[in-house]
Amino acid sequence: MAQKIQPQPGIMDIELYVGGKGHVDGVSNTVKLSSNENPYGACEKAKQAFRAVAGNMHIYPSSDHAELRHAIAQVNGLDGDRIICGNGSDEVLSFLTQAYAGVGDEVLFTDHGFSMYRICALGAGATPVEAPEKERCTDVDALLAAVTERTKLVFLANPNNPTGTMISEAEIERLADGLPAGALLVLDGAYAEFVEGFDGHAGLVDSRDNVFMTRTFSKIYGLGGLRIGWGYGPAGIVDTLHRLRGPFNINAGALAAAEAAVLDQAYVEKCRVENAKWRDWLIAALAEAGIPADASHANFVLARFDSEVEAEAADERLKQNGLIVRLVKGYKLPKCLRITIGKGADCKRVAAVLKQFKEEQGNSEQ
Ligand SMILES: *Cc1c(COP(=O)(O)O)cnc(C)c1O
Repeated sequence: MAQKIQPQPGIMDIELYVGGKGHVDGVSNTVKLSSNENPYGACEKAKQAFRAVAGNMHIYPSSDHAELRHAIAQVNGLDGDRIICGNGSDEVLSFLTQAYAGVGDEVLFTDHGFSMYRICALGAGATPVEAPEKERCTDVDALLAAVTERTKLVFLANPNNPTGTMISEAEIERLADGLPAGALLVLDGAYAEFVEGFDGHAGLVDSRDNVFMTRTFSKIYGLGGLRIGWGYGPAGIVDTLHRLRGPFNINAGALAAAEAAVLDQAYVEKCRVENAKWRDWLIAALAEAGIPADASHANFVLARFDSEVEAEAADERLKQNGLIVRLVKGYKLPKCLRITIGKGADCKRVAAVLKQFKEEQGNSEQ
């Protein structure tokens, strides 16, 4: 019998998300470098705050997130009334798409853009449109060339995932200037804290009416398991998104941990410095082994191999040595591996395995 119950258009075009793997059968001492998590975990104060909630699990959480919004606003110098918290920044991206794009509308992003942008667009019945990047870097001219009068949202991560590259604020502003009146530019700042002195383009949000910023506690704050992120934008847009938001979209443990985490900027700074040190070390070590990678502004590097076959073999070799990284074929980068910056010892293991791998590749070619 034919199924009469059918989903809305677009939804069955969404490919099921495959997350970063966390273990390898038969291999011990594994380290997960596949999801850009903080290798040092969350700060102690966040852990304490989370534990303190345990005795009150029967109480509904705050529905306006006022305390967390206040803390975020205070630390980042923002207007707390224009912050919206989400169950991960993914949820904020999803609210934005639901609110501003539907059937017949276009959602624009780059061809190596974050996977959620396509999922959100299709989920809202809108048409995803990809603009090419130039040498794995956002190309504002290509984005502007892809804009039509049906473009409603432009999603751009800066720094980008999975490339790690970044463009200047002047370029971002040129993009915002070139958009039609009905289009909103969403700047995804998931990796903003890894860039020293960077506000995630919050200044552009304040000075314009067509720019929105999203941020997350999943990356440098080490709270990926709790699912919490936030957005900052023009008052009218934030008000619109609040109407879509479930009143209790964030649980009490996540709210408490995030508030403690954002107030502990000394910990964030320590993580930022450590990440930059080992990221630059790993890029240099890979270069020495004959594996190029772009300068990265985030907590991962994108290692380039000579072919898709070689990238897959390198991935397998790393895996057999307990090092789980990410193949990024789904991001149209089949010759690349995205490697999260772990602790120093993890980076050294990655470099040693890949150096030997590359030497063997060279020998077998002769
Ligand atoms: C990890 C990541 C996010 C964060 O998603 P959460 O839902 O907050 O965990 C958002 N955007 C990009 C580009 C990311 O890499």
